[in-house]
Parts: sequence; C-alpha cells; structure tokens
Amino acid sequence: MQDPRRIAELLLGAIEWQTQVSGFCRCPGEAFHTSGNGRKDCRVNVDGAPTIFCFHASCVSAVAEANRRLRRELNASPWELRLPDGRTLRSGDVLQAGGVILPREVLKARARAEGREAGEALAGGHLFRTSFDEKLLLESLRVNAERFRPELFDFFRWPMAEILEGSPLLVAERDAEDQFRTWLKLWPACSTVWIGDVYSSGKPEHRTHFRPVSEWYQIGPAMGNYTCGSSFKPGCHSRSNENLSGHRFMVIESDTLSHDEIGAVFAFLRRRLRYEMHCIVDTAGKSLHGWFEVPPNKVWENRLKAGLEVFGCDPKVFTYSQPVRVPGAWRNGKLQRLIWLRQ
Ligand SMILES: [Zn+2]
Repeated sequence: MQDPRRIAELLLGAIEWQTQVSGFCRCPGEAFHTSGNGRKDCRVNVDGAPTIFCFHASCVSAVAEANRRLRRELNASPWELRLPDGRTLRSGDVLQAGGVILPREVLKARARAEGREAGEALAGGHLFRTSFDEKLLLESLRVNAERFRPELFDFFRWPMAEILEGSPLLVAERDAEDQFRTWLKLWPACSTVWIGDVYSSGKPEHRTHFRPVSEWYQIGPAMGNYTCGSSFKPGCHSRSNENLSGHRFMVIESDTLSHDEIGAVFAFLRRRLRYEMHCIVDTAGKSLHGWFEVPPNKVWENRLKAGLEVFGCDPKVFTYSQPVRVPGAWRNGKLQRLIWLRQ
C-alpha cells in the first residue's frame, strides 16, 4: 500500500514533516512570490481533504492547481498509515490537534444529517457528495488552521503601533464628533443604522435608535456606545435578524488575542484572503475591531468562520445583529475611536 507522504513528496519535492501528516514544503507557485520566501510559508497536509496551503497570495492559482493534482493522486486508491502509537489513519480520516482521529465515517454521517436537514436528501447522491466534500474540507480547514496558527502570527505580524502609523487616513487623533461622522461615511447614504446601548432594542420606544445615516450625522454620537455591522429596515424597533436589510460589514474581534496579535488576523484577511478592510476601531477596552466586507456567500462564510474561530476570534462576528462599539462614544473616560481608515 502506498504511503501518502511519498506521493506528496513525488509531487512537491522534499517535505520537512512536522507531524505524521503535515509538513513544510517548497511552494509550487514560489516563482510568483512577490516578497521573500520563508521556510515555513507553505505547508502540506495529507489527511482529511489533502491540502497545500501557502501564506503568499500571488501564488494562489499555482497552489490551486497543485492541490487538484495532490487530491487526484492521493484519492486514486485508498491508503493507510500506521501511526507511531500503533493506531491506523486511513485516507479521508482527519488527525485532529491533540492526536484524536476523526474517522471519515463520522464526517460522512454528519454531512448526511446536515444534508437531510437542508432537504438535500431528496436530490439524491450528488448533493450528498457535495455536502460531504464540504464537511471534510471544513474539518480539514480547522486542523490546518490549527497547524499554521503559529506561523500566521509571525508571517502577518501587524502590531498596534504599525497599524496606527500605516493608516491611509490619519484618524486616531480626531475628536469624538469627527470620529463619529467619519465612521458614518462608511455607510451607504440611504442606510438605517442602529445606535444605542445593548438593551436599546425590542420595544416600540426604541424606534428612535434606528435612524438614517443623515439623521445620525446631525445628532452626533450621543445615543449610546454601540452599533451593529448591519443596516436595518427603516422604521423598525428591534435589532433582530429579520429586520436586517441591505448593507453589512463583517466585524472581526477577539476576547483572547492581544492588540498586537489580532492585527495579524486582520492582515491575513486583507493581504492573503483579499477581503477589503474598511477600518479598525479601538474599543477603549481590551480589543480592536476590524470592519471588513462580508464573504461572498454562505460556503465562504462557513469556511472563514471555521478558520477564524481556530485563530481565537469570537464566533459572534457572524451574528450580524451583534452589538459592537461605535467610534466617537466615551467609555469610562476613554474614547472609542478609529485608528485605521481606508482611503
Ligand atoms: Zn506560495
């Protein structure tokens, strides 16, 4: 029976194995890199959905092509790998952090259950196959994110001081009114935006917290410390999901990462995954919030969510009616403010 690692080596050249199934390799698109190459920039995993992942963005199409070849070769015939402790890992199984083996049958069962929930069972084999592949990919993505997490913080290092210094528009020193109005300009003019405190929602008297951008512009930041990354239907009084309308931002935050660490996640989203970043808000507390464009669809959203959770981001960021700190309001004597703003 073929050793999957030999197959990967035949395709990619020498691999510096870090675990039984994951190691650093030379990027198949290295010729396209526009910045210096590091030994740990590119990683290959043969378990789960076999994947090559490189931190550089300029090589994506070469890496995608190599991924297709790697999967074709590794899926051509089933393989088994004897681990040092005597257990056996089979093709399609995922070797999770901490050494737990997630068997492919479990992933299949989960995909089948989810497919049924989504009403896909009626459509038969094809959709099941798609949802199984996606499930396997998500699970693989989670373990991959776990594996390359240490390199992420190194490769995309973007500490607070550099964020402040590198802002395309200098915003950090502006006063409260200016902070608030500058932030309002990120919204399309017709949007209805909620501003209040966490409980300023749900009753008819809270309608006054949902206003068009132009009205907020006149009023200023006086009506609360929070807003949402989403706009709402005009005239509503509740921050519930069914009242969301039109424009949305994805607001990335973390309760566990420091100011200097979360910057690496922002840089990764921006430079590697090419999400447009609109601004970074210093919440005048422990965290920084990055305001990004939202993923193009549910599939990408789920993938991004899986990765971001592993990096230490708050899964609440994908609840689009979640309250977040609004720039221009004061919190215990400190100003919630923009520290980075796009041109
Ligand atoms: Zn690369």
